[in-house]
Amino acid sequence: MTDCLFCKIRDGEIPADIIYKDDDCLAFRDINPKAPVHFLVIPRRHIENLFDTTPSDEGLLGRIQLKIPQIAKEQGLDSGFRTVLNTGPGGHQEVYHMHYHVLGGGPFTGFN
Ligand code: 5GP
Ligand code: ZN
Repeated sequence: MTDCLFCKIRDGEIPADIIYKDDDCLAFRDINPKAPVHFLVIPRRHIENLFDTTPSDEGLLGRIQLKIPQIAKEQGLDSGFRTVLNTGPGGHQEVYHMHYHVLGGGPFTGFN
């Protein structure tokens, strides 16, 4: 059993609007969107944040980051998007399972 919210979404224990999945990662819509399109991309493996990564994660992180523009285009973000990755209290991280925010499609609200 895990207490991690995003592990529970990954495992189907908590519902989410999943828009993409593969062997490395999962993407689902943010429950409190700060833009017309706002989704999160998480590694399948529980990694807390960038402080919790090692050189052995180089391939995984690279593959996920290369996948983001593809998912963004599938979501209609052809003109571009913002990617945000919060790390630790100093980065105002709230959920401690690493996630890229991907935002676009219009004005952003409440997101600095
Ligand atoms: P952080 O501040 O950790 O970078 O961002 C956490 C994000 O997760 C927030 O944008 C928040 O709206 C989103 N979030 C929190 N709980 C849930 C949930 O249960 N489901 C989904 N889909 N998103 C969530
Ligand atoms: Zn987790």
